[in-house]
Amino acid sequence: MNVKKIPYPQVASWVEIDRNALAHNIETFKKIISHQSKMGAVLKSNAYGHGMIEVFKEIHGKVDVIYLIHYQDAFLLRKFEQENDLRATRIMVIGALNPQEVIECVKQNIEIVIYSETFQTCLDALRKENLPTKAMSHIHIDTGLGREGFYFKGIQESIAFLKNSTDVLHIQGVMSHFSNTEDVTEQSYALSQIEAFELSLEIILKELELPNTLEKHFAASAATLAIPKSRFDIVRIGISLYGLWPSSETRLSAKLILPELPKLKPAMSWRCKSQQIKWLPQDRFVGYGCTYQTLKSTFIALLPVGYFDGYSRLVSNRAYVLINGHRCAVLGRVMMNHIIVDITDAEVLQGETEVTATLLGTDGKETISADQLGGWSQTINYEVVTRVGPHLQRIITH
Ligand SMILES: *Cc1c(COP(=O)(O)O)cnc(C)c1O
Repeated sequence: MNVKKIPYPQVASWVEIDRNALAHNIETFKKIISHQSKMGAVLKSNAYGHGMIEVFKEIHGKVDVIYLIHYQDAFLLRKFEQENDLRATRIMVIGALNPQEVIECVKQNIEIVIYSETFQTCLDALRKENLPTKAMSHIHIDTGLGREGFYFKGIQESIAFLKNSTDVLHIQGVMSHFSNTEDVTEQSYALSQIEAFELSLEIILKELELPNTLEKHFAASAATLAIPKSRFDIVRIGISLYGLWPSSETRLSAKLILPELPKLKPAMSWRCKSQQIKWLPQDRFVGYGCTYQTLKSTFIALLPVGYFDGYSRLVSNRAYVLINGHRCAVLGRVMMNHIIVDITDAEVLQGETEVTATLLGTDGKETISADQLGGWSQTINYEVVTRVGPHLQRIITH
């Protein structure tokens, strides 16, 4: 890919989202689930840093359900559909909602998740409101993650308050979430979660007198890839929609389980133009704290990106960026709005006054992956991409 073709703003770093990569990843998952499950796309956390609206625009009509945490995001997407004459997609808010927000969701045909007995106040509010439509709802079962949901033991009692609520609720599905599918290749804990899910499901069907056509959804990216029986009726694909593997364990499992290893294409690149380039003599300190000192005369680029933008300070003196297809070391500390990199060997032409740097993504034959940045900053690719600042411009490329 030639980075110079891309239109860019001058003063800040920007994020490029590869339209073809998103489409490719969706197709890859559709093949894996081979129409036996619906395709859910998780767009929470600004679409894992990729830009919620930008990603929504690209995938609209290509997936069956959109999953979000916050109702404000769901409203933004509904508004976007209305303003652009798009058909209303299924949108599900899996996070917390107060009674007023539940009412708004019903009005806007947004599906909600019931995860605790405190939902009683929402039932009361719905009855008072007397809306023409019911709340499309899913019951979240805690099968062992220990996060939101009704714990599977004792679920008969804890969901009893939902009896006789068909006046305001339409229970559409049940869901749960895995605890450690991406951390292991041996999935006995996940299998015990599936068992708990199936037991709970039977109880829910009986207690609430529901038909077994309820939609069951459990698997995120890792389970979809590594545990076929976890896919049920809808899969909720987050990280891998954006072309990243949940972990190397998941990749290993997928290699053993699937007929061929899926090729995921990372959708995000992060680039900037230099603010200044200049020569520093030998023995000069670079950046706060004097943590780096030039060993020889060094050509440096000052880049307008820092920890404010989500470029972790933990990669100080560790990371590389790409310039003209060459790896260039980050010298000294990552600052709030700046980093300094060594461009001595980056083949910068005589007379050039600026360079274009790739912080994440590919330039020529070299790539800086989210996994690498995660390794340098002692975290996972999920955190690397979701932390890329929402203030930065997202540009769709292809
Ligand atoms: C974030 C999330 C997902 C997506 O997980 P990935 O590992 O990114 O695919 C699915 N389900 C729930 C409940 C989540 O919170």
